[in-house]
Amino acid sequence: MTLPRKDLFDLPEGVIYLDGNSLGPLPKGAAARAAEVIGREWGQELIRAWNTADWITLPARVGDRIAGLIGAPTGSVATGDTLSIKVYQALAAALKMRPDRRVILSDSGNFPTDLYMAQGLIGTIDKGYTLRTPAPQDVAEAITEEVAVVMLTHVDYRSGRLHDMKAITEKAHSVGAVMIWDLAHSAGAVPLDLAGSQAEFAVGCTYKYFNGGPGAPAFIYARPDIVETVEPALAGWMGHNAPFAMEPGYRPAMSTERLRVGTPPIVQLSILDAALDVWEGVDMDALRAASIALCETFIAEVESRCPTLTLASPRNAAERGSQVSFAFDHGYEAMQALIERGVIGDFRAPDIMRFGFTPLYIDTADVVAAAAILEDVIEGDLWRDPKYQTKSKVT
Ligand SMILES: *Cc1c(COP(=O)(O)O)cnc(C)c1O
Repeated sequence: MTLPRKDLFDLPEGVIYLDGNSLGPLPKGAAARAAEVIGREWGQELIRAWNTADWITLPARVGDRIAGLIGAPTGSVATGDTLSIKVYQALAAALKMRPDRRVILSDSGNFPTDLYMAQGLIGTIDKGYTLRTPAPQDVAEAITEEVAVVMLTHVDYRSGRLHDMKAITEKAHSVGAVMIWDLAHSAGAVPLDLAGSQAEFAVGCTYKYFNGGPGAPAFIYARPDIVETVEPALAGWMGHNAPFAMEPGYRPAMSTERLRVGTPPIVQLSILDAALDVWEGVDMDALRAASIALCETFIAEVESRCPTLTLASPRNAAERGSQVSFAFDHGYEAMQALIERGVIGDFRAPDIMRFGFTPLYIDTADVVAAAAILEDVIEGDLWRDPKYQTKSKVT
């Protein structure tokens, strides 16, 4: 299949969408599926739909589709909740696996919620755990024998810098630490060989490159050979071995399903299921090659047109995910001016203008056009208009 596949999405006219790394666009068929689930399944079938429309197995079926896209075996991925919850669960389970160690190692570039969840968990356990966050480039060196768990986000949300999954996991294992990867900005963006990495856990969200819609459920992977020893911190009934036996005591499912918590969000899961159709027949290596070509073109265009901006992503494509960031002191205002002109990226404090490149629906012509509009905004000082200074709640 050749890329892009714009025909698979309902994209608004006149918009160049460079924010699929934050919220993917609406895949064709997703809205119809939502209408069907709401109108016919819920509306007509009512509670019978858990069986008649097979809602009860939807979390596992969607998990298997995600597994195929992240290099994980069938049955190893559970879906539901939000990524923050999945981070907490993976971390709590990982700490239980190394009861004599007290250090959680992450990095200073990690997404805030991952660090906050670790801080909250440390407070709840209250047994003297510490969270270390060296600079991303210093992480490998900081993996020592005191470390219980290494918890990293594979692609840095701000800079797009890519950690070496295999090498860092090997390093973690060489000192006896457990490895957790957050794939929020890698799943659907870069080829992944999760099973090959041997990492114990991985988590991710589905509203970014998987286009599952705002608030789409998260996913969690546990390595199949350890899953039966994983102790769930959030022992919800949907992770029980027999939820409808209604037993008074918790008995975990004998698979990754034990990392589910409560009732799955069926409407969102159905939308995600429909959204995953766009990946049928997509070769992840071809996607990666197309993504690199788009990012390289954007960097070259922007650097030649806008000397005021500073590249804030690794220059070497092999060290970058599927996004490119530029630093600019007035990045917020500039991004508002860009958005008003139909180029949608986003801003991350303190000064990062972030652009995501998704070869499923972005082509070279889009990239060149976006760079030309960025040139107008920056070199033409259009960002100085005071109307761009009012900050919205979401940037
Ligand atoms: C997007 C993102 C999140 C978001 O977590 P939610 O619980 O879905 O809001 C968490 N971690 C990382 C690394 C992210 O990129």
